[in-house]
Amino acid sequence: MSALTQVSIAPLEPSRFETVLGAEAFKSFDEELKPSRELLDGRVVWNINSTAAGGGVAEMLRPLLAYANGAGVDTRWAVISASSPDFFTVTKRIHNHLHGVVGDGGELGDAEHEIYQSELEANVEGLRELVSPEDIVVLHDPQTAGLAGMLRELGIKTAWRCHVGLDLPNETARVAWRFLLPYVQEAQLYVFSREAFAWEGLDPERIVVIPPSIDAFSPKNQDMEPAEVDAIVRAAGLGADATGHATPGGSADPSEEDADGGQGAEPTFARIDGSTGRVERRAEMVEDAPVAPGARLVVQVSRWDRLKDPLGVIDGFVREVVPHSDAELLLAGPAVEAVSDDPEGKQVLDDVCAARDELPDGARERVHLACLPMDDGDENAAMVNALQRRATIIVQKSLAEGFGLTVAEAMWKARPVVASRIGGIQDQMVHGETGLLLDDPADPAAFGDAVRQLLDEPERAKEMGEEARRRVREEYLGARHLQQWFDLFRRLVEEQQPGAKT
Ligand code: UDP
Repeated sequence: MSALTQVSIAPLEPSRFETVLGAEAFKSFDEELKPSRELLDGRVVWNINSTAAGGGVAEMLRPLLAYANGAGVDTRWAVISASSPDFFTVTKRIHNHLHGVVGDGGELGDAEHEIYQSELEANVEGLRELVSPEDIVVLHDPQTAGLAGMLRELGIKTAWRCHVGLDLPNETARVAWRFLLPYVQEAQLYVFSREAFAWEGLDPERIVVIPPSIDAFSPKNQDMEPAEVDAIVRAAGLGADATGHATPGGSADPSEEDADGGQGAEPTFARIDGSTGRVERRAEMVEDAPVAPGARLVVQVSRWDRLKDPLGVIDGFVREVVPHSDAELLLAGPAVEAVSDDPEGKQVLDDVCAARDELPDGARERVHLACLPMDDGDENAAMVNALQRRATIIVQKSLAEGFGLTVAEAMWKARPVVASRIGGIQDQMVHGETGLLLDDPADPAAFGDAVRQLLDEPERAKEMGEEARRRVREEYLGARHLQQWFDLFRRLVEEQQPGAKT
């Protein structure tokens, strides 16, 4: 029997945006929220997706919902479940198709419709109890699209928000569109991250474009002093810090350490609710020895997913960076059992470990893999934050990407980025100004060469990092997103009731 799980969200005051936006911009932002706040009074805005942890959607919903609540709109989050893993096999197949690749190669036919619908029907029972007809619902991604029609029958209006897409859709993507279209068309509005991702066959009048954002204050992105970065890197077992102090129990000289790791800072961070958190758990590392003291570090943080091309990252690094520099590579991702809606994670991680094992000694010892514990979302985020700040260069060599939150996260930390010119990444980055974009995402040598260029030119890399932070401040922080989100809610409330003739 499937059940919905509600994710609890403590409100956050949007007034904190003032410190990043400036007083003037904050005032007009606050003014613009007013009409939506009034219209939504007495209604609940429900968000439904398929995982509360792991991946970009969960990452984005948490702060956004908290700010929406802080701004006076009752916004809640429920996660669907499935009684059989077949559901997530089908939805992962749809996800891969939407990115233009076949994934496990299975069908998207009648049997898959049957699995998809029956699992969602089981979730509707729970929704019926939670949602009333004045409420509005935002459904996220393919896993939940099928709920739109079921909710429509209950007189409830929905927007479907698609977080994935393909710059130039191919036949594989269209197979997924055809599968999903009858479900999606039952929603009143369709939201895409970029204009180019909007599907053929949807009423253009009902398409809304909203790029994602990052939260500058979350444990993932909050400012950290260098000593705090070092303390967290060490506490999490992610290797030596930028100044050469080693992971406790690692291979660097222990005489350099005192009880708190030698730097005087604690591995602490501010949790989303404002309380102080501490990094207690350790990453599971696959490595010959911890990252060398003071090493320049190239980092990619991603789910273990073929479309993030971890094998291509290793290949390009080993071919073009290893022979010409002393830099090390660290690929970090979530502990694989933690991401409930991604059945492929473990297999991909196994493949990455196997590829690393096969590297010659001199290369293998410079490639580190880290599985970050997901038991405590804030702690995981603090680890990612510290790791991104520890990085000399951050890479995102994806083969397909909806938006690529990791890129905005890296840019906010003033890190130069090397990434594929695809999806939302090309909107975020300006080639040559905030980092380097790769025209061919499948060319490992070009990737390695770009990383090497930035390693060879630290001054230029630093300037790029600073420009990157400026760009995120202007385009990709929560205030802009919240404003667009409230506009969407308002429009949804004003849409005609489902079932009414248009
Ligand atoms: N992430 C994380 N811990 C990990 C790996 C990834 O918190 O171990 C986060 C990452 O920081 C980012 C999100 O997961 O916020 C991934 O979003 P993105 O848009 O880059 O890719 P998606 O996973 O949605 O395809």
